[in-house]
Amino acid sequence: MITIKSTKQIEYMRHAGSIVFETHKRLEEAIKPGVTTKELDIIAEKYILSQGATPSFKGYNGFPANICTSVNEQVVHGIPSLKALKDGDIISIDIGVNYKGYHGDAARTHPVGTISEQAKKLITITRESFYEGMRYAREGNRLSDISAAIQQYVEKQRYSVVRDLVGHGIGSQMHEEPQIPNYGKAGRGPRLRAGMTLAIEPMINMGKYQVKVLPDEWTVVTTDGSLSAHYENTIAITHNEPALLTQVTE
Ligand code: MG
Repeated sequence: MITIKSTKQIEYMRHAGSIVFETHKRLEEAIKPGVTTKELDIIAEKYILSQGATPSFKGYNGFPANICTSVNEQVVHGIPSLKALKDGDIISIDIGVNYKGYHGDAARTHPVGTISEQAKKLITITRESFYEGMRYAREGNRLSDISAAIQQYVEKQRYSVVRDLVGHGIGSQMHEEPQIPNYGKAGRGPRLRAGMTLAIEPMINMGKYQVKVLPDEWTVVTTDGSLSAHYENTIAITHNEPALLTQVTE
């Protein structure tokens, strides 16, 4: 069942989302060659707790850290470690925050120092593909209209869309129905209604779409070793434009 949130519930989610956004901002400033992903994890934990919230990912199905840090060919669910970032790396950071029982979830991919033009383009196309999908996140549309828009945009650029991992409904649970694939034919799935809250999250590979899980049982990597980028926001379907809950505009 896809839950419909009240205005008040969406306000809690927007607050959770604003903490996600502010955490991302702090991490973006901290990312540079020599910094370890563990250091980023600690910055995130301190900030989230200081806001009267908790990191949603910590302990989720046993996940051992506060945020996910996925470097280069790592797609998602990378575990922060004592390994330092290097000039030329790209890093995807995924943050979930629980504020008074409501979740916000967003991911970004950032350059570390100076990166290749191809890597820059991958990050840009991944971000843009989210916005392509979001254009269809409107009352009355079908869920897969979002999926199809993302896939078409990405494949036009000759990148590939990860199939094994998908976006999701979100609210009082971090993962709720429906699943939101980033590929597929338009015009299918449930009709979107005002009050639905969705985490749309394209994961885009420079090479082939296949992925595998490393022996740590968390880290998902591209099977061909190509770079991967991730971009995610939590949004609410409204009677008009979708509302971005994990983006704060000043
Ligand atoms: Mg998510």
